[in-house]
Amino acid sequence: MPTSSNRKLVILDRDGVINADSDAFIKSPDEWVALPGSLEAIARLNQAGYRVAVATNQSGIGRGLFDTSALNEMHAKMHRQAAAVGARIDAVFFCPHTSQDHCDCRKPRPGMLKMIADRFEIDPADTPVVGDSLRDLEAGAALGCRTHLVLTGKGQKTLAAGGLPEGTQIHDDLRAFALDFLSNETA
Ligand SMILES: [Mg+2]
Ligand SMILES: [Zn+2]
Repeated sequence: MPTSSNRKLVILDRDGVINADSDAFIKSPDEWVALPGSLEAIARLNQAGYRVAVATNQSGIGRGLFDTSALNEMHAKMHRQAAAVGARIDAVFFCPHTSQDHCDCRKPRPGMLKMIADRFEIDPADTPVVGDSLRDLEAGAALGCRTHLVLTGKGQKTLAAGGLPEGTQIHDDLRAFALDFLSNETA
């Protein structure tokens, strides 16, 4: 039986939230560069008792731009840099498909978030989903999660385009999300 504390989970998109995004895809560990303060923000969430899971669309695999071993190397770098600032990412879920595959895991479909909710035995209604693209928020809203837009990555464009799920909160970056979210939690 899980305790209440280990049901505390935050679900993050990766590109544009944790690391700098690129329209040309992040294809190698060298191209994976953390955004300022993002890993420290994860450490802060961990210190408040939150586990952190990543849910990321990686259609570059389905397009043949890189393979899963390159993705694993990127994530090894992410975990290594996270550990260096006392942060821990508990799980990384990725969708390797393209939109033509019509899978259930590619956001905005909620399949990947559903797998995370099942794995971590969390209540989506208590679980924030943080992303920089509308599809991140749509996937979260479809599962009943609380949705948070960050303005890093594609976030400014996403905000300008409008149509955010009802109740979406907006933060400058992941550091601002962590501060806002944790201060509301203790209020
Ligand atoms: Mg993104
Ligand atoms: Zn998929």
